[in-house]
Amino acid sequence: MRIAITGTPGTGKTTVSRILSKKLSYPVYSLSELVKREKLYSEFDERRNSYVVDIEKLKGFFKGKENFIAEGLVSHYIPVDLIVVLRAKPETIRERLKERNYSKEKVEENVEAERIGFIATEVFEGSGKARVVQIDTTRRTPEEVAGLIGRALKGEEVFDDVDWLEDEEGGN
Ligand code: ADP
Repeated sequence: MRIAITGTPGTGKTTVSRILSKKLSYPVYSLSELVKREKLYSEFDERRNSYVVDIEKLKGFFKGKENFIAEGLVSHYIPVDLIVVLRAKPETIRERLKERNYSKEKVEENVEAERIGFIATEVFEGSGKARVVQIDTTRRTPEEVAGLIGRALKGEEVFDDVDWLEDEEGGN
């Protein structure tokens, strides 16, 4: 089973992947590290202080691999069987990211990306043959989130409807 765990930074990809990896005995590939180590990038973006992932090189790395968890911002571009989109309330993302040494600008950029559902939209528009599961991590523990993914792997439908913009309009 090939699993991609994607979502805005701070949604819990790394934490949940580690738990799931133990449950399934699958290796985890953290894309931010992998891309650097295997040079799966096209260039370095000075302004953003990050590597620009070369999607073709990324796909090439995973070609032929069967059982794995790939976690990271661009993991949903890898051909997989299951894509897990992790979500969290924008305010929760802000709280989680404040604890990192991110600039205020980078924190707010990610809060906004989650608010509009940037990654989720990318996944829903182009998931190919993969099944898609969406989980709201806001009021769950990482163990509960990993448990839900386990249930999805057994065939249960796991899908939280998330629309932070609508919540704002509703005053919640
Ligand atoms: P990402 O890899 O998406 O940037 P991390 O796993 O590095 O996210 O960080 C998420 C942070 O949020 C961790 O400090 C984690 O303990 C915390 N957290 C709180 N609740 C959850 C949850 N339900 N699922 C995942 N992470 C959670």
